[in-house]
Amino acid sequence: MGRIIAIANQKGGVGKTTTSVSLSACLAYLGKKVLLMDTDPQGNATSGVGVNKGDVHQCIYDVLIDDIDIKDVILETKVENLHVVPATISLAGAEIELVTTISREVRLKRALQEIKEDYDYIIIDCPPSLGLLTINALTASDAILIPVQCEYYALEGLSQLLSTIRLVQKHLNHQLTIDGVLLTMFDARTNLGIQVIEEVKKYFQDKVYKTIIPRNVRLSEAPSHGEPIIIYDPKSRGAEVYLELAKEVIRNV
Ligand code: ADP
Ligand code: MG
Repeated sequence: MGRIIAIANQKGGVGKTTTSVSLSACLAYLGKKVLLMDTDPQGNATSGVGVNKGDVHQCIYDVLIDDIDIKDVILETKVENLHVVPATISLAGAEIELVTTISREVRLKRALQEIKEDYDYIIIDCPPSLGLLTINALTASDAILIPVQCEYYALEGLSQLLSTIRLVQKHLNHQLTIDGVLLTMFDARTNLGIQVIEEVKKYFQDKVYKTIIPRNVRLSEAPSHGEPIIIYDPKSRGAEVYLELAKEVIRNV
């Protein structure tokens, strides 16, 4: 039975997409069958696994709004064992269109039900908001992974995210758990990074992943080549740490 993990934080630029793409590809590299779901209209996870958005005719928008069968939008990637449900800019309208739709919070959950068995992991890259797309992702998921950037305002906005998670747990998805908080873009040369780690650990305690993602240039280069880090530069520090994270995510279940 597939485990569904939402990568969510309403703050932009904290490493959601980098983590979604890298973790998905590393899980696939470890032999798991993985589906990466892009639910951000920017479609960066889609292009991050080498899919040209210009060639995509149907995306997650058509599944959520027009009830298209999700099996018809799944694409293969150049990574063995890794499939993707793409997102394109058409998804930008979904947030508003969903408001007046029947069962608006559970559409993704229903779409995933028929394919959940086909995968070991389904990873959902969320958009930078707490709107209906993120609510759909949290409602469909078993667990949430929260990337937190090691910077000055790291904890800002997290209480809002946590109260959204509590609301979803109460009204839409009792099973949702926090798998973990992932510290990203750590820079060992600054005291600030170390302070943020201490602060986040004090707040989230054993919910913080042991793996910490450092700043790594290769991680920021990989998207423009349309290759996950494990393909783009398997010997890089970025590939090593995301492989460690994948093993930790597997152990957590
Ligand atoms: P989000 O999806 O939360 O908006 P991204 O994953 O797109 O965040 O990351 C924001 C930017 O930071 C991107 O340009 C990405 O390439 C870069 N980035 C993310 N993680 C790292 C890292 N560990 N080291 C260096 N650059 C990173
Ligand atoms: Mg993103």
